[in-house]
Amino acid sequence: MKIDHIGIATRGIQDAAKFYRDVLGLEVSEDGAETEEVAEQKVRVAMLPIGESRIELIEPTSEDSPISRFLEKRGPGIHHIAVRVDDIRAALANLRDKGARLIDEEPRQGAGGCLVAFVHPSSTGGVLLELVQKAS
Ligand code: ZN
Repeated sequence: MKIDHIGIATRGIQDAAKFYRDVLGLEVSEDGAETEEVAEQKVRVAMLPIGESRIELIEPTSEDSPISRFLEKRGPGIHHIAVRVDDIRAALANLRDKGARLIDEEPRQGAGGCLVAFVHPSSTGGVLLELVQKAS
């Protein structure tokens, strides 16, 4: 397993990306960051490569986005950690067998054509965990 990315809730990707580009020195495209809308989750995301992993900046596209609710309650900050798995359905079945509380019983479409599913923080010691299976 690898950390695929760390998801960070922001009020605006372009503003948040400035820190990673200007202060941390990550390679981010000129206009801040290339973004992709994930309509199903009512968010727009930008993936910033860092080593073999990535930082995912997330901004809400709607007031009823889960990210809007997160920002209201907690403000900007780390939202989730994503681990890469080879077979997301097998990983979900394994977690279910071991009693983990799943937010997504079935994988859904994530950024970059990946399949993703979330595991509830009550099963992981307080961390929202995302499983990611790369698009094949
Ligand atoms: Zn993510």
